[in-house]
Amino acid sequence: MGIIVQKYGGTSVANVERIRGVAKRVVKTKEDGNSVVVVVSALGETTDELLRLAHQISPHPPERELDMLLATGEQVSVALLAMAIQALGHDAISFTGPQVGIVTDAVHTKAKIIDIKSERILDEIERGRIVIVAGFQGVTVDQDITTLGRGGSDTTAVALAAKLKADVCEIYTDVGGVHSADPKIVSDARKLPIISYDEMLEMSATGAKVMQLRAVEYGKNYGVLIHVRSSFSDEPGTLIKEGEEMLERPIISGITYDVGEAKVTILDVPDRPGVAAGVFRALADANVNVDMIIQNVSEKGYTDISFTVAKEDLRRASEVMKRIVSELGARGLTCDEEIAKVSLIGAGMKTHPGVAADMFGVLAEKNINIEMISTSSIKISCVIRAREVERAVRAVHEKFDLSKEQVKQVAGD
Ligand code: ADP
Ligand code: ASP
Ligand code: MG
Repeated sequence: MGIIVQKYGGTSVANVERIRGVAKRVVKTKEDGNSVVVVVSALGETTDELLRLAHQISPHPPERELDMLLATGEQVSVALLAMAIQALGHDAISFTGPQVGIVTDAVHTKAKIIDIKSERILDEIERGRIVIVAGFQGVTVDQDITTLGRGGSDTTAVALAAKLKADVCEIYTDVGGVHSADPKIVSDARKLPIISYDEMLEMSATGAKVMQLRAVEYGKNYGVLIHVRSSFSDEPGTLIKEGEEMLERPIISGITYDVGEAKVTILDVPDRPGVAAGVFRALADANVNVDMIIQNVSEKGYTDISFTVAKEDLRRASEVMKRIVSELGARGLTCDEEIAKVSLIGAGMKTHPGVAADMFGVLAEKNINIEMISTSSIKISCVIRAREVERAVRAVHEKFDLSKEQVKQVAGD
């Protein structure tokens, strides 16, 4: 009997009625002859509420204790879902992440899974039970509870699907699949029937929170077929799978945005070998991920270095940078939280010059200033003012006609 892993996000289990709806869908999948492992997120906005509570107690809550707190959200939903399934006359059992041996590193609030001990899950499946696992959480080898970063239930689900060699990992959410842009901002965004891991990696890395980045990485590394779909309908959603199987692909898959980053600039750094290495080594040692980096042209032996980091890491980054500024004898430091990053993603871009120019052109037409640019073979990102972000996304979406089915390129062309 094949295994199907299903993951239900917060809105899909926001209240009793929805939990009952999820229970019915799970039972149906079981009755269709599959073994089912379900991963659930915390109910509705629970994680945000818990975070708010923590910040009322302390402006900078210790991360170990934050994890202890946030992990409670998912423990509520697994128990309720197990009860709802049992109420339908089916056998179900709920587990926390630690109970099923989801072992992570000790980087609290953004831990990485290093091992999953699947024996308990497989035993329960063997007994014919539906297994329900709390998303987003794990445990270190020292028995400390960890969480996997916002949206981490996606990663729990895909990692379990990889470990259990599931036929498919279904990600149930509040939209019909991965779209050409966030459907909450672009009302005529198009649902993509299929997308490659690489394109989805770029979409997630640049802000499409419909799938957590780590989950897509896991999917790619272990070849897990991922199906992102709506928990409110039976319509097929978006398949995320290996790109080679797709003979044809559009030039552009979608446009994403991210308002979760801040820009840090170190002013007048002496321009000599080893400076960039010193700056970015110090950030890496403090577990701060850096996204875009720009070093200006040097004038009279001095230069400015700007980079972007997640807002939640800004305090840590600026503390580290204050030390570096005085070590290097730079003039100072500025931090800017009012930025947004808008990115255009598409595997067909590799062979199509002019996409970047068109994107810059449409932003210029709308009088939107570009502050930073970065590109990869399948992505172009621009940093702009945060207040312009929705206007920019809609304008670029329209310019590239993304609500219509895209002209397909044969792979390799
Ligand atoms: P869940 O709670 O189910 O995990 P999330 O809120 O994490 O749901 O992710 C789903 C949301 O992702 C959607 O409601 C949508 O607003 C947002 N989103 C952003 N970009 C995209 C996109 N390109 N396609 C689909 N959804 C997107
Ligand atoms: N509940 C967690 C969050 O809100 C994990 C998840 O939903 O995937 O980020
Ligand atoms: Mg999510």
